[in-house]
Order: sequence, then C-alpha cells, then structure tokens
Amino acid sequence: MKVGFIGLGNMGGPMAANLVKAGHDVTGFDPAGQYPQGVAQASDAGNAANGADVVITMLPSGAILRDVARRIIPALGKGTVFCDCSTVDVDSARAVASDANAAGAMALDAPVSGGVGGAAAGTLTFMVGGPEMAFAKVLPLFEIMGQKAVHCGAAGSGQAAKLCNNMILGVTMIATCEAFAMAEKLGLDPARLYEVVSTSSGQSWSVTSYCPVPGVGPKSPADNAYKPGFAAELMLKDLTLAQEAAQSADADTPMGALARALYAQFVTDENGKGRDFSAMLPRLFARGHV
Ligand code: NAD
Repeated sequence: MKVGFIGLGNMGGPMAANLVKAGHDVTGFDPAGQYPQGVAQASDAGNAANGADVVITMLPSGAILRDVARRIIPALGKGTVFCDCSTVDVDSARAVASDANAAGAMALDAPVSGGVGGAAAGTLTFMVGGPEMAFAKVLPLFEIMGQKAVHCGAAGSGQAAKLCNNMILGVTMIATCEAFAMAEKLGLDPARLYEVVSTSSGQSWSVTSYCPVPGVGPKSPADNAYKPGFAAELMLKDLTLAQEAAQSADADTPMGALARALYAQFVTDENGKGRDFSAMLPRLFARGHV
C-alpha cells in the first residue's frame, strides 16, 4: 500500500519503519526531521498524504491533530483512510472524522497501547473507532505494527476505549503502590505479598506484568531506577483526557479524578516528570499517613 505517515517521534518512527520493512511504500512528514530508513521525506503534511491509500498520524495532542487534519484533508482521495493513532480527546477524534467524511474520505481513530517497546517490536494493541470498511482496509497494516486490533465501534470509540483502559491502569497502579508501601511499613516481605496477590483477588496487570517493587515479579522499570517505560507525564495526559471525557459524558469517576490529581501533583510539584508512572511507589513510601 501507499502510506502517508505524519508524526515520526518515539512511537511513529518505529511504526513507520515496520511498515517499510514489510514492503509498504511509506512517505513521511515530521517537522523535527527524524526519518527512519526507507521512509521517503515529504516537504509538508499535505504532500505526505497526496495519493496515499492510508494516511496515518501519530501526534502529541488533539490541537495538533486538528491542525494537521486541516492541512491533509484537502489532499485525501475518495476512499482514502485517514487513520489517527495518537491519543487525543474524543471530541477532536469525532471532529476530524466528520471533516474527513465531508471531504469523501474515511476516518479511523486507532490509539494504541504497548508503548515504545511495542511500537519497535510490532506488538501494539490498536483500539479502533470508525466504519467497518475502513477498519478492514487498514487491518493488514495494524497486523504489521501490532499483535491485536479491536474494532470498538463508531468514530471516537477507539479513544473512548483507550481512556477507559488507562483510567483503570492509573487507578490500579496507585492502589498497587499504596498496598506495597503499606506492606513494607507493616514488616511484610514484598516478595511474599507478590506471591499472594499475583494469584489472589488483588491481582492486576500493574502487579503481575509491571510490579512497581524492585526485584519483585518480572523485570519492570522498577528494576531500572524507574526510568520509563511509561512516563508519569504520559499517564497524567491520559488521566486528564479521561476526566475531560467523563465531564462531557456526565460520568461519575471519583477514583479517576483522584488518580489524575495525584499524578498532577507528582509530575508538577514532586519531580515525577521523566520518571516511570510506577515511581508512585517510592513517592508514597516516603510519606506518612495523612
Ligand atoms: P513524540 O513527541 O515522540 O512524537 C510526536 C511527533 O509528532 C514528534 O516527532 C513531533 O515533531 C511530531 N509533530 C508535532 N507537530 C507536528 C505537525 N504539525 N506535523 C507533523 N508532525 C508533528 O510522542 P510519542 O511518544 O511518539 O507519542 C505520540 C502519540 O502516541 C501521543 O498521542 C501519545 O500520547 C501516544 N502514545 C504514546 C505512548 C508512549 O509510550 N510514548 C504510548 C501510547 C500512546
């Protein structure tokens, strides 16, 4: 396929590289100028989109996505799929899809989970909103860049699924860190607690795949001085988007709101920026009962 790829950062770069390796014809654009080997360089976003079967975007925010969409939608052919893989607010995803549809193109919102490691290894999970026909057209590309693609429903459903998933993740990571910090203060060996919780009802991905305690469970950022991994500021971004979505849908999310507030404090006031989101454990351990 002829693919336009806009936004070649930490995630987009390796995703585009995997498409090239699989034999697709990829033309990219990124003002920061980092082009993986084999990706042709376009002079602007519109040129990257010109004549493409699928245009993929992997950008930092909804505002930037809307700006890029304004530039590329006039260049999209009839039947081209505009597939945004960034994590953005549900409203931006729906607005961009509706503008693309009005111009005769199809649109998907397809945010990912799996991080930079998953992008490099081609093992991302895609959560996809938009028409079935567009999903079917892009599926062969999702299968190269990832190991799973779930069609979640109409436009915006992919972002909705991503925000719900990451709200669960933020809340369970904090709960896991609280429990392990308390266990240590109660004189309980964290390795024994891991053995219990990993096969008991407190079990979650935060415990068994990403245990925040150094030397306990499988290797995780905790074993690498909490170097990300998944940085606390990216978790804050997703929890903030989740709260915006909760507000616009009138959903009551008290735990999500608390998780957002705690990560905001950690990132802005407590040097959490640049640390893995599981560094909430030493942060909690260092403090007493309040
Ligand atoms: P990044 O900052 O490394 O990459 C974003 C790229 O977009 C940059 O290279 C930047 O130059 C480019 N860009 C900015 N404005 C542009 C424009 N107008 N036109 C074209 N390119 C432009 O960020 P990332 O880590 O690659 O994340 C990208 C998206 O993926 C974000 O929405 C993020 O929330 C999401 N995400 C990231 C991770 C992760 O672990 N990094 C995991 C899941 C999802």
